[in-house]
Amino acid sequence: MKTSKYDFVPANYEDFYCHPEKYRVPAFRIFGNLFFTGNTDVGSYLIDTGAGLILIDTTYPTTQALLIQSIWELGFNPKDIKIILHTHGHFDHFGATALLKSLSGAQLYLGMRDAKNFRERPEMALLDCGRHACQELFVPDVELSDGDIIRLGNAAIRAVATPGHSDGVMSFFFDVSDGKRTLTAGLHGGAGMNSLNRNFIARYGNTHSRAEFTASLAKVRGEKVDIVLGNHSAQNDTLGKLKRWQEDTGSNPFVDPGEWVRLIDGLRARFDQMLDDEAHNLDCL
Ligand SMILES: [Zn+2]
Repeated sequence: MKTSKYDFVPANYEDFYCHPEKYRVPAFRIFGNLFFTGNTDVGSYLIDTGAGLILIDTTYPTTQALLIQSIWELGFNPKDIKIILHTHGHFDHFGATALLKSLSGAQLYLGMRDAKNFRERPEMALLDCGRHACQELFVPDVELSDGDIIRLGNAAIRAVATPGHSDGVMSFFFDVSDGKRTLTAGLHGGAGMNSLNRNFIARYGNTHSRAEFTASLAKVRGEKVDIVLGNHSAQNDTLGKLKRWQEDTGSNPFVDPGEWVRLIDGLRARFDQMLDDEAHNLDCL
């Protein structure tokens, strides 16, 4: 089978694993009690609830040192993590989960259908894509359902099931505050086409995923979001915004109430482009 340009493996994949330090992004405050703890490839977010920390996604196993360094640099202690939420059960989003569980005793949350896949179809976690990853699946303490609210301290995070990229993708919506303003952050939990292209579906048999993906986009398009978070850092131009912010400290580019609809419509357009490319055999590299 030929390689699709919608497949998983990026050109710099080997480099990413051998030299994770090159992909470090110094941790920073996005707004109020919300912080970025991810790297150039994948998002991770820390929320200070006033009664402990919530961490969303734990990046790759090879970047777990960067994540822990980020937490310390922000002035927090990893042992104060009470809850780790996972957007979905792919290996690039739970790489440091086992380590952080051992350090903090945090409760681990994962969408119910991905938890089921961990038990019954572990290959769907794509560990085989992590060629240098010394990684194992974890046992979730809580299996999330559509509409669940995760509460800790001042935080109330609404989980919305948005299957497609994986069966158990959960998107998260929650308020954050700087003491003066309260804004709503939104994170689409799984946006990549790598698990939706025809090569992947031929290999894993997830023929249901495409219809679920487009239905999920329609389901969350109307959400009111002031701050778009990226499941991967490029999805919301994390690095571009950070650079602009450093050059112009007067405005916060992460606050953009129009971005959510642009993100969702952009994902739909990319999905349609993939189908069109496949129909014309333009998807193969
Ligand atoms: Zn994924």
